[in-house]
Amino acid sequence: MATGHPYYDPTGSRHGLPTYPWGWVGDPDLRTKAQLRAEGLSIAGLEVAAQIMWRSNRAGNRNGVRTAALYRRSLARPVRPLTPAQERALARAELARHTCRDCGRVWEFCLPTSNDRCCPDGCATFEAPEADALAVAA
Ligand SMILES: [Zn+2]
Repeated sequence: MATGHPYYDPTGSRHGLPTYPWGWVGDPDLRTKAQLRAEGLSIAGLEVAAQIMWRSNRAGNRNGVRTAALYRRSLARPVRPLTPAQERALARAELARHTCRDCGRVWEFCLPTSNDRCCPDGCATFEAPEADALAVAA
């Protein structure tokens, strides 16, 4: 590996953070946020451990260099899954957005709050809601 490369700075002496050129990250424990996310891991609570540096025309700064933060995979924790109670609450909230507040009819689309979440053309034009739809809403 070319130790003289301007972006190769594993000790961070030049860039303040351990720095590797794009594609040259020598530490297999280092991942970008997107890579961790793809493994179901979260960067929550993690410190930036290193960075990738590369030259890009799309860089928004004068020297044309972009960086991406790297995190330690070994320290990353799984993205916290929803508890069953949280999932039920979300499902209830979602269902409420599709349910007429007056007659309980469940629509396939979100009812607008501008209409106070009621049937768009008025409840009277529709049959009473199915009993099982009400049971889910309860
Ligand atoms: Zn209605």
